[in-house]
Amino acid sequence: MTRRPAGAEGRHVSARGGTRTPLIAGNWKMNKTVAQAEEFIAGLLPRISARAELDVAICVPFTALQAMVDSARGSGVEVYAQTMHEELEGAFTGEVSAPMLTELDVHGVVLGHSERREHFGETDRALAAKVGAALEAGLHPILCVGETEEERERGETDRKLRHQVQEGLHLLDADQIARVTIAYEPIWAIGTGQVATAQQAQEAVAFVRALVGDKTPEAAEAVRVLYGGSVKPDNAAELLALPDCDGALVGGGSLDPEGFAGIVEAARGA
Ligand code: PEP
Repeated sequence: MTRRPAGAEGRHVSARGGTRTPLIAGNWKMNKTVAQAEEFIAGLLPRISARAELDVAICVPFTALQAMVDSARGSGVEVYAQTMHEELEGAFTGEVSAPMLTELDVHGVVLGHSERREHFGETDRALAAKVGAALEAGLHPILCVGETEEERERGETDRKLRHQVQEGLHLLDADQIARVTIAYEPIWAIGTGQVATAQQAQEAVAFVRALVGDKTPEAAEAVRVLYGGSVKPDNAAELLALPDCDGALVGGGSLDPEGFAGIVEAARGA
């Protein structure tokens, strides 16, 4: 099935502050068989209400994509992949391309998660091509950026974010940039239980938005910037109420339906 380009009818330039629809995206990483994924979605759907003012997505392993697309159809819960290759096809053993995802009716894809950058050698150069390829295919990309603990301690957070944002977006025009979601995920907060303070998160997401603004002011108003790193039901409301934070990328907290639904509800209240 051919998908419309993400945001084609302006859905990501519509609600928050008059401009952006927040997104809560659960990143399952390498967790859940198809049977476990089915159990999750059966537990999640009765706990959340589909409403236009908030987007909800689950980012699932390749093997569970088709099942989750089928099970979530009509519910308002979108299904994302966790990575993809930038080429359309070819001799890239083990990889999956954008057309393979859109054929399944997948909505979007996480790109440049710090685990992919660290363990699988994903480079800024490849990511720039992947973001463009995702948009071209009609997938909504979530580009992840963030600093290590050492970089933060050395005062290099801004430099790292500037580099990753500029490199990740450099092949795109203003229209395309407006359709990207950027997730600020401090690496020291991922899977550690050590969530960023509200001030740290706001400074960073606002800085990411300002970096987009340096490239194109209109896109800065439209682009969604998420926070990610140890988001749980009990800290979600404060983070999601930050003025520049348009939602969350949630790892561990998205693995059980009750906890993930709690974060979604916190987002609705924020
Ligand atoms: C992530 O994997 O993107 C993430 C934010 O993980 P966690 O919520 O577990 O810190």
